[in-house]
Amino acid sequence: AGGAQKPEVVIQRYMEEVAPPADEDCIICMERLMSPSGYEGGSEGGQSIQPSAVGKLTKCGHTLHMLCMLAMYNNGNKDGSIQCPSCKTIYGQKTGTQPKGKMEIYSVSQSLPGHSDCGTIQIVYNILPGIQGPEHPNPGQQYTCRGFPRFCFLPDNEKGRKVLELLKIAWTRRLIFTVGTSSTTGEPDTVVWNEIHHKTEMMSNVSGHGYPDPNYLDNVLTELASQGVTEECLKQ
Ligand code: NAD
Ligand code: ZN
Ligand code: ZN
Repeated sequence: AGGAQKPEVVIQRYMEEVAPPADEDCIICMERLMSPSGYEGGSEGGQSIQPSAVGKLTKCGHTLHMLCMLAMYNNGNKDGSIQCPSCKTIYGQKTGTQPKGKMEIYSVSQSLPGHSDCGTIQIVYNILPGIQGPEHPNPGQQYTCRGFPRFCFLPDNEKGRKVLELLKIAWTRRLIFTVGTSSTTGEPDTVVWNEIHHKTEMMSNVSGHGYPDPNYLDNVLTELASQGVTEECLKQ
């Protein structure tokens, strides 16, 4: 959505230029803020930002070279959002690079281990192989899809249903999967989970991604929040 904006305009929306503090390092380039950024903005539309410019992020207040932040933005999927490299505060709406697919929801009457007082929500994700886009590691090359459809489970209680609604938002923002190298199999150019853990076993726990796990719902709420998906999103 925000993709059409000029990168430097995105940076300037969320950073206010300030005088560099006396003796601090830029967390991106590790140079002192008093020395200029090592990045050149020129070729990627950063002509209006000087290498010496230091910016303060508007919400969290962390300071960085503005050109370093611009370089980080240009390295990502350029969706109009930025994330503080220091505290991870998100500015704008973060989206991911999940390929096209389907998310389906089913209701199962059987209970999960540890949740004997309720039924179960089953989520089925299906993604088919395709060609990588410019937002992926190897544009133009195929990506593979292993172990799809993937089946995931949540307790059908109040917190589980809240997690489900947030997962639906994460899905539409393309945050559930990404294209990369599987850390389990080492296969490159394949669709992999993206930092939001799912329970893929219902009645067993062979992989460690099963039940019981009394902390799971809280953990996944934290992971969703670090991608910018919070209860606030449900009110909008
Ligand atoms: P990955 O190995 O790159 O790991 C990414 C994240 O997914 C990590 O945080 C990891 O902890 C988590 N993860 C790893 N295995 C998981 C599992 N079985 N269930 C839930 N989360 C898991 O990610 P990946 O390559 O997408 O998935 C790991 C492996 O699990 C793959 O080999 C995939 O084929 C397999 N898998 C199979 C099925 C199936 O129904 N057959 C379902 C899910 C995953
Ligand atoms: Zn820097
Ligand atoms: Zn910050």
